[in-house]
Amino acid sequence: MDLDLTGRHALVCGASQGIGRACAVELAKLGANVTALARRAKVLKQLVEELPRTHTSQMHDFLVADSGDTDGLRAAAEKLVAAHPVHILVNNSGGPPPGPAHGATIDAFLDAYRKHLIANHLLAEIVIPGMQAAGYGRVVNIISTSVKEPIAGLGVSNTTRWAVASWAKTLATELAPFGITVNNVLPGSTKTPRIKQIVQTRAQKSGVEVEAMQHAMESEIPMRRFADPSEIAAAVAFLASPAAGYISGINMPVDGGRTRSL
Ligand code: NAD
Repeated sequence: MDLDLTGRHALVCGASQGIGRACAVELAKLGANVTALARRAKVLKQLVEELPRTHTSQMHDFLVADSGDTDGLRAAAEKLVAAHPVHILVNNSGGPPPGPAHGATIDAFLDAYRKHLIANHLLAEIVIPGMQAAGYGRVVNIISTSVKEPIAGLGVSNTTRWAVASWAKTLATELAPFGITVNNVLPGSTKTPRIKQIVQTRAQKSGVEVEAMQHAMESEIPMRRFADPSEIAAAVAFLASPAAGYISGINMPVDGGRTRSL
């Protein structure tokens, strides 16, 4: 199986922590040159120093940008691809704040769409010409299992994820003739700062201890545990590899078997 990404350039968004950071690490382990995008320069600089290097010519760098600032994101990404075309794009950003759909503000929807759907589309549009020229392209979007089964209490998030999934499926069909694949990875509960926030919110609302809430959530998962971010990143790295060249337009849950639907 060909997992070698030597000479490929991966742009990994939301890379300063959690799943994005784990993706940067796994792609680097397969030999890719990684550009880590997020908002905090200091954290990214440290990450770039720590990323694995499998060969002497492997180079990593970082890009400071905010997925909610469309113009700033465009300028940063255009500058990047002008110097180094991108072959692998991992679309990822912080999840929208929890809360029901009923009562959610228009601004909450607009903000989530801007940081996810719009940012993903903007970046894809900027990197696709380089992928076409290289005859190799991988777009992997980190979404959520809520694409298959909307999650209670995540109204804005559920809605936004579905929009991203539909965008990705459409794009996958359009780009397939160019050797570019577009896929979604759907994490289940994963041990990152994001899940800590969700567990705390649910515990507070139910009036139970955080540990008890985590235990209750874990017991709903057939594997009885949350994922390690590296387990989500392994799926992303595989989809980014040459070995996954005939896989496009899919939603891949990585959730310990939690999703009940087919
Ligand atoms: P996280 O909050 O730990 O990390 C998010 C990353 O995105 C960080 O690097 C953060 O700096 C970056 N980021 C946030 N807002 C940004 C912005 N405006 N511009 C640029 N970068 C920004 O989240 P995570 O747990 O790693 O999750 C990543 C994605 O996967 C999120 O969309 C999340 O909702 C989704 N997800 C997570 C879980 C889970 O259990 N952790 C489950 C399902 C889906």
